[in-house]
Amino acid sequence: MKIALFNTKMYDKQFFDIAIANTDHTIEYFEVSLNSATAKLTPGYDAVCVFVNDYLQADTLEQLAKHGIRLILLRCAGFNNVDIEKAHTLGIRIYRVPAYSPQAVAEHAVALLLTLNRKTHKAFNRVREHNFSLERLTGFDVYKKTIGIVGTGQIGIAFSKIMKGFGCNVLAYDIVQSQEALSQGVQYVDFDTLLAQSDIISLHCPLNHATKHMLNMTQFEKMKQGVMIINTSRGGLIHTIDAIQALKTGKIGYLGIDVYEQEEHLFFKDLSESIVADDVIARLMTFPNVLITAHQGFFTNEALEQIAQTTIQNIDLYISNTHTENEVI
Ligand code: NAD
Repeated sequence: MKIALFNTKMYDKQFFDIAIANTDHTIEYFEVSLNSATAKLTPGYDAVCVFVNDYLQADTLEQLAKHGIRLILLRCAGFNNVDIEKAHTLGIRIYRVPAYSPQAVAEHAVALLLTLNRKTHKAFNRVREHNFSLERLTGFDVYKKTIGIVGTGQIGIAFSKIMKGFGCNVLAYDIVQSQEALSQGVQYVDFDTLLAQSDIISLHCPLNHATKHMLNMTQFEKMKQGVMIINTSRGGLIHTIDAIQALKTGKIGYLGIDVYEQEEHLFFKDLSESIVADDVIARLMTFPNVLITAHQGFFTNEALEQIAQTTIQNIDLYISNTHTENEVI
């Protein structure tokens, strides 16, 4: 099969070249994102391989179908960036990589939590400038704090295991209860109870119609003063403008985000010589208690290897028409 891989970074090529060796498939790497303007690159290919910030809406999908593309390979877990219904109407099937080192994302959520709390990013810079003062670096013990986890799927469970190891009380909210979470001693509560009782809230559910802006001003008002919020899932789960208001009043005491509502214009790009036009992220970056990383939760060697291998296996499952939970239906 001939695959057009979009949004290619050096590390994608590195891991996909290994995964594709000794197969009959070939990959052409394109640095550009896949969208209605770049879909013209797809004639002659059988499949496209895309990432979180390639937006495959109706106009793009129609062009793909016209060019004979019958398969979309998402090299990620989330699929909120693809109009699934439209793709199916056009006879295009979609496969994803539902599980690739959930520990990678869970560990990154913990990294955000600890950095915000113990201010290691500030300490690092201070010490390099021979400023050995501890003023304003005070943190809090994570031990015995209440952690609220929204979404106890693979990443939420991996995160809760780590927080249990810290000696935390873990509350969870999900539309489905997980036996594994229950056996870890996680206590399921309703959403409002989680908001009201948690010292730290970490989001691990997908972005969809039900979860869009699930944290907005109404929800922030129900939280403890100075709550810490961590989001490694999808930017659209948080109403960013409301979060800025809640940061200004001190309701949110710490905000750690690896995802951002408008991230497709920024993340995965080197804009260090450009003028960033997004005033919302610019405002977020002015807060000393906000930590932003650019969607790197998944970014470990183990996860990249798994993503490439599963994506190539998905092609074979598609060709043999073998049922797999990796297919988005
Ligand atoms: P998963 O499917 O294993 O778990 C998602 C959980 O969310 C499920 O238990 C589901 O029941 C729950 N859920 C669904 N709707 C909900 C709702 N309305 N309220 C509460 N819970 C709800 O997914 P996962 O592998 O744990 O991934 C979670 C999210 O992490 C993904 O959707 C993706 O957006 C994000 N992610 C981010 C990165 C990154 O690099 N930052 C990498 C991978 C995944």
